[in-house]
Amino acid sequence: MKITALDLYNFTKCQHRVYLDSNGDPKEKGEVSPFVKLLWERGLQTEREYLQTLGNIQLFDLGDLSIEKGAPKTLRLMHEGVPLIYQGVLKSDVYVGRPDLLMKRFDHSSLFGKFYYEPIDIKAGLGWKEQGNSRRFKGHYAFQMLFYWMVLEQIQGMSLEIGRIINVNGNIEEFLMEEFRALFATGLKEVKRLVPGLKTSEPALGSECNLCGWYAHCQRWVNKHGDPSGLFYVGKRKFQMKEAGLRTISDIAGMNVKEFTLPPKKIHGIGEKSLQAMKIRAKVMLGGEPDIRGGYTLPMGKSEIYFDIEDDPTRNLTYLFGVLVKDGDTESPFRYFVARHPDDEEKTARAFWAFLYSIGEAVYYVYSHKERTTLRKLMERYQLDQDVFDRYVASEYDLYAKLILPYSDWPTHSYGIKNIAHIVGFRWRDVDPSGVNSISWYSKHLEDPEDESWLQRIVLYNEDDCRAMVAVKEFFEHRQS
Ligand code: SF4
Repeated sequence: MKITALDLYNFTKCQHRVYLDSNGDPKEKGEVSPFVKLLWERGLQTEREYLQTLGNIQLFDLGDLSIEKGAPKTLRLMHEGVPLIYQGVLKSDVYVGRPDLLMKRFDHSSLFGKFYYEPIDIKAGLGWKEQGNSRRFKGHYAFQMLFYWMVLEQIQGMSLEIGRIINVNGNIEEFLMEEFRALFATGLKEVKRLVPGLKTSEPALGSECNLCGWYAHCQRWVNKHGDPSGLFYVGKRKFQMKEAGLRTISDIAGMNVKEFTLPPKKIHGIGEKSLQAMKIRAKVMLGGEPDIRGGYTLPMGKSEIYFDIEDDPTRNLTYLFGVLVKDGDTESPFRYFVARHPDDEEKTARAFWAFLYSIGEAVYYVYSHKERTTLRKLMERYQLDQDVFDRYVASEYDLYAKLILPYSDWPTHSYGIKNIAHIVGFRWRDVDPSGVNSISWYSKHLEDPEDESWLQRIVLYNEDDCRAMVAVKEFFEHRQS
């Protein structure tokens, strides 16, 4: 049995993944998506850039060594007291960890002498996450660092209280390891049972699944078992629901809601309103047809602009604004504003602002709050005209928030535009349409800007996202009449 830092990282996202990675049939694991590969490449790039800032400091790079060869070499180098080890291997008992850096420090002694080593990871993101007025350190980063320290403590006989990472901007970020110790201990105990298969687990479909190689496998399992996580907005809450006796979608469709709001069956954290909504969704899922409720109104008599943005949150970059303008039965050719290079973001945002300024009375259809949030960010970043933004906000109609959520339910576990538009009969022209793929295509375009095909693929995909909104809006319109 071998337990790695990655197992602990994954545990913070999904324990079934930890189980499958060691016990699942590798043939059932999908290929690594281009976006995940891109993230790996970005991670390596961040590491390379940081290492270049270290100047003349003597660095021992063990990146090419296997675990078997790297572990004794790392130990030997630490005994010798070298200043810095890159991609060393920490191995003790069943644990194996590969921190990006092992840095020699002199403020404490260890079994090696009057110095010790500190593990530091170089991350392609920020360690601290803002949440409203508070902030917290990312649990998956913390679990990895606690894991390294645990193994290192067994090797050098000492540990620290503060964990550190180097973030995407090359800055050191610190956190108190004590704040994660109890959670980490529980997680490690679970991981030690999941990896050797002493404990089995079940999938719970949710947002963590999008980039996971086991997605198709888990989706098949969920469908076959009529698992509650096959319903929209159930996710990991399924575990509490199953404990209370709601083991399948059929159970949920047939439940007496009141019974599960009172002891002994009361489900902690899920109120009557949520249970009612789940019951309706379960019936819709079993019936296979969307349930559209009356009472909604759609903006009338205005120009319609279907608007969608392509952005890369990992770079904090917006690279395309696409708009499909419809005036009654007349449709203008699809328009887009693209930043051919990241440096063009401001120029492109200004061109889009000029477009917004030029538009008279209109309604902007979108499918999330992302467009509004992104425009606000760009306005603040480049001091763009606030009146233009305010006018846009007043004219925006979010199909997801104003129609899909309050007035409908669908026989699918996700209410994203891809699933909903698919049910109403819309098909994307691209064989593999998705926002994360768009990010990979943009990255390919940057590698070879002369090749227009990647940009064309993004534009086509963005246009289809706009057309998918048209299809959803018209579906509701027909149901209304
Ligand atoms: S697809 Fe989802 S449920 Fe399945 S292992 Fe991956 S993250 Fe977990």
